[in-house]
Amino acid sequence: MKIVVHIDNAQEWRDALTQALPNATVVTSDAAEEERLGADYLAVWKAPAHLLKEQTKLKGIINLGAGVDHLLSTPGLPPQVPIVKLRDAGMGDLMADYVLYGVLHFYRSMDRYAVQQASARWQPHNVVEKTDWPVGVLGLGAIGAYVASALQQAGFPVLGWSRSPKTIKGVKCLYGDDGLDTLLPQVKTLVTILPDTAATRHILDAKRLAQLPEGASIINPGRGSLIDEQALLDALGDYHKPGHLRGALLDVFHHEPLPSDNPLWQHSRVMVTPHMAAPTPLSDAIDQVISYLNAFEAGETLPTVNPSQGY
Ligand code: NDP
Repeated sequence: MKIVVHIDNAQEWRDALTQALPNATVVTSDAAEEERLGADYLAVWKAPAHLLKEQTKLKGIINLGAGVDHLLSTPGLPPQVPIVKLRDAGMGDLMADYVLYGVLHFYRSMDRYAVQQASARWQPHNVVEKTDWPVGVLGLGAIGAYVASALQQAGFPVLGWSRSPKTIKGVKCLYGDDGLDTLLPQVKTLVTILPDTAATRHILDAKRLAQLPEGASIINPGRGSLIDEQALLDALGDYHKPGHLRGALLDVFHHEPLPSDNPLWQHSRVMVTPHMAAPTPLSDAIDQVISYLNAFEAGETLPTVNPSQGY
């Protein structure tokens, strides 16, 4: 079995795969062309087009992350080759930390204290009960469901939303357009952990943002395309004319790295992080990758990505 690996820490992945599969030939994508060609599997994150185009006998592609938007839009992706993506694989826990940090930031008024500190203003704000701080989670997949449960266990009422109906203990699960209309007006903080697909692009447009209550906050570690950026800026307003949204914690953007002249960088009520919410932890993900490879080789049915759905 020959596997070509492409990811920032490809050598670590090559060494871990070689150790787990001593009979396999594992090469990184910077190896010479003759070493790369004829691969059975690609294990990749943000692979360049040539890496997909040059292979002729692939049995499967393993996406070394949860989002497949980049892979599915790469020219040269062979249409018949099955794709599997990582499911949770340790990312749920990292994402839950990120989201919990964000929810607590707004819930405990840390955004207000940061502004007050700039003018040495000593003014405590009331702490409401957590039960009065409902959090909405859009996307209840492997990571979204994990995050929804973590928030619920932390004491926040959680409303979740997905394409199909779901059951998650302690979470009020909604779906479809009506479900979103029900969820948005109820939440104090909205978390978006949806994939980037034709159906989710700009799902939070001006109309949807206006459905959030006055003073609501947004946390987006899903994909930048989920939110209409200008509509978000309008809903936040500025120092002189605040809008109806209180603030946002954003990890993902339409263009990454976020261009230095993008107004989100300078907005006093926006926190920008550089797409770091939940990087793939090799130590947790390696077992899943091995089990995918073994299942492919055994001809077992795998939970493959549906390219027409986009996730
Ligand atoms: P999954 O594919 O497991 O789940 C996707 C979820 O989104 C499902 O619940 C699905 O509904 C729902 N969904 C998809 N399309 C729609 C729609 N049109 N309307 C309503 N719901 C929809 O993904 P993960 O949970 O593993 O990851 C989610 C996303 O998080 C990734 O695609 C990626 O973009 C992002 N991510 C970001 C990271 C970061 O560091 N910032 C790290 C990891 C992931 P259903 O269950 O009904 O199919």
